[in-house]
Amino acid sequence: MKRIINFLINSLFPRECLLCEKELGVYLCQKCFKSLKFKEQSCLNCGSKNENGQFCSNCQDNFSYQGVMVATNLNDSKIEKLITNFKYNFVKEIGYYLGLFLFNFFKEKNENNPILFKRKKEKKFTKQNSLLIPVPLSSKRLRWRGFNQSEILAQIISEKEGIKISKNLIKIRESDNQAKLKLSERKTNLNKCFSFLDEKKAQIEIKGKKIIIVDDISTSGSTLEEISKVIKKYQASEIWGLVLAHG
Ligand SMILES: [Zn+2]
Ligand SMILES: [Zn+2]
Repeated sequence: MKRIINFLINSLFPRECLLCEKELGVYLCQKCFKSLKFKEQSCLNCGSKNENGQFCSNCQDNFSYQGVMVATNLNDSKIEKLITNFKYNFVKEIGYYLGLFLFNFFKEKNENNPILFKRKKEKKFTKQNSLLIPVPLSSKRLRWRGFNQSEILAQIISEKEGIKISKNLIKIRESDNQAKLKLSERKTNLNKCFSFLDEKKAQIEIKGKKIIIVDDISTSGSTLEEISKVIKKYQASEIWGLVLAHG
């Protein structure tokens, strides 16, 4: 119903920029797009600052993946407004802008990162050595929203960078909303939620690759950890999270 109402509103009124409210026929004008800023990178677990979101040496042992590159913070009111309209008002087009923003961030990390990538050129994420995997939604959630927001973000990065996207990972069990659970409950809540639809295909796709798991929002990194555990069995060379916002 909400989707129908939104459709009617969009058809009746000229589109205005969600941030500056100017009637420019777009959801996000160029000026406002350029005003969105990337955040400083840090270890997701302890918050110590670094260049590309890798886990620090103290925290790495607790995780099955190398780190998370996080473009921005959810407490940035502009980003929050865009994500809310994208995910909960079902304005799919906003995903284009958010995907472009995430792509620009990824590109900057991939090209300018002095720690991991500049020393050895082959350390960079390339279309030959990398694979994008969007965090899947359960089929129930997918029916409700009509699209997978992480897949839209990953699709744009795939188109711009030429890195393949795999839609082989599925969410087989609905989990409770992570945000409403205690930390101890969050860990078991996601147990056995994710699996590959085609295991043979997963073996071919993943072996020796740098895997980039794409998500819209990450808080504790527990979804990325659960997915990494599944991916690790297929001998990925590295596993990274690429996330739009920390919240
Ligand atoms: Zn604007
Ligand atoms: Zn740390």
